[in-house]
Amino acid sequence: MHIDEEKITADIHRISTFRDKNERLSFKRKKDKMADLVKELNGVKEKILKITLEEVYPIEDKITELRAEMTKECVHPKDELVHYGTHVVCKFCEAKITLVGSTNGED
Ligand SMILES: [Zn+2]
Repeated sequence: MHIDEEKITADIHRISTFRDKNERLSFKRKKDKMADLVKELNGVKEKILKITLEEVYPIEDKITELRAEMTKECVHPKDELVHYGTHVVCKFCEAKITLVGSTNGED
C-alpha cells in the first residue's frame, strides 16, 4: 500500500499539534526531566556496577573458595546434620552418611 509522503507529513503534523501549545510545552518539560532522571539513574547504575566488579565479586570469590576448601575438609558439624531415618545428610558438604551398625540409641 502506497501512502503519500505529503499525507504522512500532514497527518503527523495534525496529530502532534492537536493539543494546545501550553500542554505541549509542559509535556516537553516533563520529557526533558525524564531524560535527566534516566541519565541520573544510569550514573547510579554505573556506580553499582563498579562496586559489584571491584568489591562484591572479590568477596564472593573468597567465599566460594573458602566453601570449597571447607567442603573438602568437612567435619560434618552437628548443626548441619539432618537425620532422615535411614541416613543422615550434612547440609554443609551434602554428604549422605549411612551408619553401619547403628546403636539406634539403645546403648
Ligand atoms: Zn559435611
